[in-house]
Amino acid sequence: NYRCRSAFKLLEMDERYRFLYPGQCVVECGAAPGSWTQVLVSKTNSDRKDGGKPVGQVISVDRLPLYHVEGATLLGGSDFTDKAVQQHITELLGNGKADAVLSDMAPNATGVKELDHESIAQLAYSVLKFAVKISRAASKTVCLIKVWDGGRSKQLQTEMQRFYKQVRTVKPSASRMNSAEIYLLGIGFRGLLKKDAC
Ligand code: SAM
Repeated sequence: NYRCRSAFKLLEMDERYRFLYPGQCVVECGAAPGSWTQVLVSKTNSDRKDGGKPVGQVISVDRLPLYHVEGATLLGGSDFTDKAVQQHITELLGNGKADAVLSDMAPNATGVKELDHESIAQLAYSVLKFAVKISRAASKTVCLIKVWDGGRSKQLQTEMQRFYKQVRTVKPSASRMNSAEIYLLGIGFRGLLKKDAC
C-alpha cells in the first residue's frame, strides 16, 4: 500500500524509461508523505528484500516530518535549499556519489501563476545545481525534476541539456489532474566540465 497516489507517477515514468535499479544510490527531494520513498527502497533494493541483488541507498528530504520507511535514510524537517542540509546529504552518500537525484518538490502555491512558476523554477534549479555537484558521471546516472510547464521550464531543460546526454519531458498520465505539472528527466550525466566550474 502506497502512502499516496504520487507513487504511480514514479512507477509509470520508470516503466517507460527504466532508470531505477538495484544497487543504485538515490537522493530524493520533497519526499513527504513518502510514497516515492516506498517505490525507491524496493527498486534500489535498499530495503534488502532481495538477497540476490545489489543493495542501494535512498536518502529522502522534506521540510515536513518524514515517517519511517524501511531501507531509507530520512531527513525530515529539512529545507533542501539549505546549504547545511545539502552538506549533510553529501556526507551520507556511502560511496561519495549519487546515481540519481529526484525531485517531486513543489512550493506552496499562491495562486498567482507567475509567482508560483518562479518559485518552483528556483527549487528546480537548486536541484540541478546540487545534482551536478554530487552525481557520478555515467550513462545510467539520471536527474528527474518536477516543474510547472512554462517559459522557465524550457530554460531549465536547455540548462539540463548541457549536463545530460538526453533530456526528456515526461507527463505521467497519473498527473493529468494537475495540468501544468511536468517532469524533466536527464539521462546520462556527462560530468562537470572544467569551464562550468566556478
Ligand atoms: N513524492 C512525494 C510522495 O510520493 O509522497 C510527494 C511530494 S509533495 C508533491 C511535495 C513535497 O515537497 C511537499 O511535501 C513539500 O513539503 C516538499 N517541499 C517543498 N519545498 C521544499 C524544500 N525547500 N525542501 C524540502 N522539501 C520541500
